Amino acid sequence: MTPKMPMSVLSLLILAAAARPAQAEWVNRIADGIMGTRITVELWSEDRDKAEQAIDAVLDELRRLDESMSTYKPTSEVSLVNARAADGPLHISKELFDLLVTAKEYSVLTDGAFDITYASVGYLYDFRKRIRPDEAQITKALPAVNFRHVLLDPKNQTVQFSQKGVRIDLGGIAKGYAVDCGINVLKSRGFTRAYVGAGGDSRIIGDRFGKPWMVGIRDPRKGEGEVITRIPLVDAAISTSGDYERFFDEGGVRYHHIIDPHTGHSASKVRSATVIGPNATRTDGLSKTAFVLGPEKAMEIYNRIDDIDAIIVKLDGTVIYSKGIEPAKRSAAK
Ligand code: ADP
Ligand code: MG
Repeated sequence: MTPKMPMSVLSLLILAAAARPAQAEWVNRIADGIMGTRITVELWSEDRDKAEQAIDAVLDELRRLDESMSTYKPTSEVSLVNARAADGPLHISKELFDLLVTAKEYSVLTDGAFDITYASVGYLYDFRKRIRPDEAQITKALPAVNFRHVLLDPKNQTVQFSQKGVRIDLGGIAKGYAVDCGINVLKSRGFTRAYVGAGGDSRIIGDRFGKPWMVGIRDPRKGEGEVITRIPLVDAAISTSGDYERFFDEGGVRYHHIIDPHTGHSASKVRSATVIGPNATRTDGLSKTAFVLGPEKAMEIYNRIDDIDAIIVKLDGTVIYSKGIEPAKRSAAK
C-alpha cells in the first residue's frame, strides 16, 4: 500500500508544475553597438523560440529609433530637423513631434537644466577625440541654446527653430524612450516579467516571482561592477547619469558629456544622479538635472515631482536620497 503522505506531496508537485510550465525560464541577451551602448534584455518565457523572437523584435525597435534619432547619422530625422528647421516649419513624424513636446516639458520641470538645444554648443565637443570649444566659440554659440527656440505646432505637426545656429540632440532622452518602446514590444507580445536596459537607462515590468528585481547603482569613482547600493524595483524605470560615461581630463578639469545650457561648459555639480520613476523616458530626461543645478536645488525639484525618486552622489562622495526613499537609506545604514 502506498502511504498517504507521498501521494499528497506528489499532487502538490503536479500543481506546482501546472503553475510554472516545465520549459518556462529566464531568457536573456546582451547586445552591443545599438545607440552606442550596451543593450540588455531579460524576460520570463514559457517558450524559448518566442522569447528569442521577442528579443529580436526589441533590438529591431531600438535600431529603428537609432536610425531616426541619432545625430551621428546624417540621414536621421533629427539630422534633417537640424539642417532645415531654421528655414521654416518642417513637418515631422508624430513620434518625433511627441518626444519633442515631452522634452520641452522636462525643460520646464527642471528650470531649463534639461535642454535638447544644449547641442547648439554641444556639437563643438568631441569627448572621444578630446576636442572642446574655446571661450570665444562658446560665447558665439550660446545664444542658440534655449528650449524656447524650438517652436512646435501641434496642428500641423511641425517644428521650427526661431533662429539660426540652433541644434537639437536627443542623447539625453532617446535611450530612455527606446527602453520604453522595447518594453511596449514585450508587453504587446504578452510578456509580464521583463527587463530592458540601454546603458544607464532601464525599465522593468513585473517582479521575479514574489521578489523584486535588484538594480545596482554604480559607484561613480569605481569600476563597473562596484555599486553604491542595490534598489529593489517592480514595475519601474531607473536612469543613472554619471560624469564617468564619456569624458576626458585636461589640466585637472573633467570635460564630460552633460552640458550646462546656461554656460556651455560641462556641468559638474555632482558625481552621479539616479532617478527612479514610472517610465524610462521620464527618468532619463530628469537624471541630468542634478549635474546642472547642483544637489540641493535638484533634490528640491525631485521632491516636488510626485512620481519620481532620486539618489544623488555629491562631489564629496556623500549620498543623498529623495523623501520617498529615505527610510531605505536608514535601514541600509543600520
Ligand atoms: P547616457 O547617454 O549614458 O544615457 P545620460 O542619460 O546622462 O547618459 O545623458 C547624457 C547625454 O545627454 C549626453 O551625451 C548628451 O547627448 C545629452 N545632454 C547633455 N547635456 C544635456 C542637457 N543639459 N540637457 C539635455 N540633454 C543633455
Ligand atoms: Mg540616459
